[in-house]
Amino acid sequence: MKKLLFLLFGVCLFSANLHFHLYKKNGEIPGNTLLVIGGIHGNEPGGYYAPSFLIRYYKIIKGSLWVVPNLNFDSIIRFRRGVYGDMNRKFAYVSKKDKDYRIVKDIKKIILNPKVDLILNLHDGHGFYRNSWQNSIFNPAAWGQTCIIDQEKIKTPKFGNLGEIARKVAKTLNQNLQKNYHFFNVKNTKTKFKDEQMRLSLTYFAITHNKPAFAIETSKNIKDLPTKIYYQLRAIEEFMKIVGIKYTRAFKLNIPEIKKLLKKEDYVVINGNAILPLNGLDKVINYFPVTEKTIKYKSDNPLVAVVKEGNHYVLYEAYHRLAVLYPQYFKNFCRIKSIKVEIDGSVKNVKIPSIVNVYKSFRVLGGKKRINIIGYSSKGNEANIEISKNKLIRRYAVDKNGNIYRVEIYDKKSFCGMFLVRFKGKK
Ligand SMILES: [Zn+2]
Repeated sequence: MKKLLFLLFGVCLFSANLHFHLYKKNGEIPGNTLLVIGGIHGNEPGGYYAPSFLIRYYKIIKGSLWVVPNLNFDSIIRFRRGVYGDMNRKFAYVSKKDKDYRIVKDIKKIILNPKVDLILNLHDGHGFYRNSWQNSIFNPAAWGQTCIIDQEKIKTPKFGNLGEIARKVAKTLNQNLQKNYHFFNVKNTKTKFKDEQMRLSLTYFAITHNKPAFAIETSKNIKDLPTKIYYQLRAIEEFMKIVGIKYTRAFKLNIPEIKKLLKKEDYVVINGNAILPLNGLDKVINYFPVTEKTIKYKSDNPLVAVVKEGNHYVLYEAYHRLAVLYPQYFKNFCRIKSIKVEIDGSVKNVKIPSIVNVYKSFRVLGGKKRINIIGYSSKGNEANIEISKNKLIRRYAVDKNGNIYRVEIYDKKSFCGMFLVRFKGKK
């Protein structure tokens, strides 16, 4: 059984719009818990795409992996370091009026959870860290391609030898580099004595509460996202090994595979009765049926968000603004689990909401419900009519290629749900 716990926090006054999610992946065999925190800085995509891979494609067999992929979600969708200031400078003190207050408070609680044995905070940092100055990109002030520690050791029964652990991780990473200059170093910020700013950080908060913590920084100067994800995942896998977590991974860890998974077809389900694909969506979707003003949404992709902006909603995948949805509100709604549809000659039970492939034509088999096929113009109920692609008006498609259309089901004035038909080429 897949043990995946999903906690969703609500919204409150003086807080960010989007709160983070915590995914708990617990193995059948008990063991240590690794907490991976991604997305503290919204313009560091290696730091939040890697955790989304952990959530989707890793299965934990022994021990526990807790993942927060989107700590600073408001900043992720804007691709900014911190829309309310630098969140990683708010761990010593944060004002109750600060928009990040609730997020900082909630993540501190998780960090201090007695079950958590080791914490990773993921970043993309400037340049490539080197012990001596070479140029503005390769130098001791750079952060990229490092495993960061605040000090060599902390006094704690497990994993207190921070320096040794970090050097081990760097050594493993350096055995398999995409480019030689990508090699990893350990950077000890000697926070207590030297780095006043870092005393305000998440990792320093953790180690001063006897929790071993590290930052992993891939380089902002590596422009290729799959390459950053590759290094982050390899570092996290080495940490899992060190804390004794056993796992399986549903893909081969290499750049082409990561690239492929980033392009994978994904969906978002809205209010449990509507659905949209994430790939190739048209920029604007009009008259999108919405049954509740506060939209609830679900996606396998943890970086998806639907955000109300003025009189419309915006669908995001991380910082990609996928589509603007102009809503049509329905006060009343009815629920329907499935509907019978004849697709290319055979009758199928189509789940609501879902996406079905059609090669030639489809016909919604009529019951009492009223069918509205968006892009087909007729007066009245559009059930029991054979629809092929050439009968539909292209600009009503939900995708840029003009292949995917909405079929909506109504009961008098109530919206019951929708499914999408995706016209495919010849079988
Ligand atoms: Zn950062």
